[in-house]
Amino acid sequence: MNKFALHFFLLFTPIYGFAAKWYKGNTHVHTTLCGHADSTPDFVAQWYHDRGYNFLVLSEHNKFIDPSTVNLKGEVRDDFLLVPGEEVTGPVHSTAMNISRLVPWHFKDQNRSRIIQNHVDEIGKADGAMILNHPNFGRRLHSHEILPVKKLYMFELYNSHPGVHSFGNAHRPNLEILWDALLEKGMIIYGVSSDDAHKLQKWGEKENNPGRGWVMVNSDELSSDALTKAMLRGDFYSSSGVMLDQVIRAKDRIELSVNEKETKKELASKFLFGHPVKKGEPGTYIEFIGPGGEVLKKIKGLSGSCEVDGAYLRAKVIHRVKKDNGSLREYYAWTQPLFTDGR
Ligand SMILES: [Zn+2]
Ligand SMILES: [Zn+2]
Repeated sequence: MNKFALHFFLLFTPIYGFAAKWYKGNTHVHTTLCGHADSTPDFVAQWYHDRGYNFLVLSEHNKFIDPSTVNLKGEVRDDFLLVPGEEVTGPVHSTAMNISRLVPWHFKDQNRSRIIQNHVDEIGKADGAMILNHPNFGRRLHSHEILPVKKLYMFELYNSHPGVHSFGNAHRPNLEILWDALLEKGMIIYGVSSDDAHKLQKWGEKENNPGRGWVMVNSDELSSDALTKAMLRGDFYSSSGVMLDQVIRAKDRIELSVNEKETKKELASKFLFGHPVKKGEPGTYIEFIGPGGEVLKKIKGLSGSCEVDGAYLRAKVIHRVKKDNGSLREYYAWTQPLFTDGR
């Protein structure tokens, strides 16, 4: 840590607490219990355990998988945790994280704001926290449908399932545009990155495999309650490959640095392909983004900071690589926004 970083670390560490650590987790994955995924809960949990994850939510469609029924083989790490969950699946899909029981999914309404609100409320009654899933899937969700919802604090900014269009297409915006629309209108909402994997038996870039989207949560301890609370405070970042050393969301600025070694390790994964893009120079870039998605500052390099100028500020790291075949691929880390308007 350089002197500048150390200064900020000492100044702002109390925001996170001295004992806080980074925990890697995936909040969204499926098993044979839903009928259209190919691996058992035991197999899926083992996959994440064996690849160094710290936590996993087995988020099955309208099924509650009690973590105590899942069996891991071999030497089980004590820094791996199954967080109880479900994917509440109706006309809208929502991850119910850290629930105490099955959450009902039957509610129907023409108005999708009311469906989302029902999910938030029902998940709350089961002591959990909600992540609104893949808003670009099927008939996409619009910002005006999400904005009226109360007590919704998380959504899937990046879900690596090839069929849910996280980066948009001809008929859908990139989900970062949706995020900025929600943030600009005063919502406190954090962006989650997840796998939503269904396939662990057949592998390939076009397959719906795990290991491509995850969160790094800064928490005092590895427990379902502590992780969930940390995420609800925005004490996490989302990744599709880039790993960070430090993220400081201070009162008036965001400061961050990229962990080159850990990023390199992640990018060496044979499960990770990156997002194909047409142009741009290879390298690592940090963008600081404010209201309306405006890029307020762009840095080429591995660390940087930016002062808030507006109601919120967030940062995004873009790591662009030129592959041997000449194609360009991007990997990202997204920090959570910092708010200055007292929302
Ligand atoms: Zn879903
Ligand atoms: Zn799913």
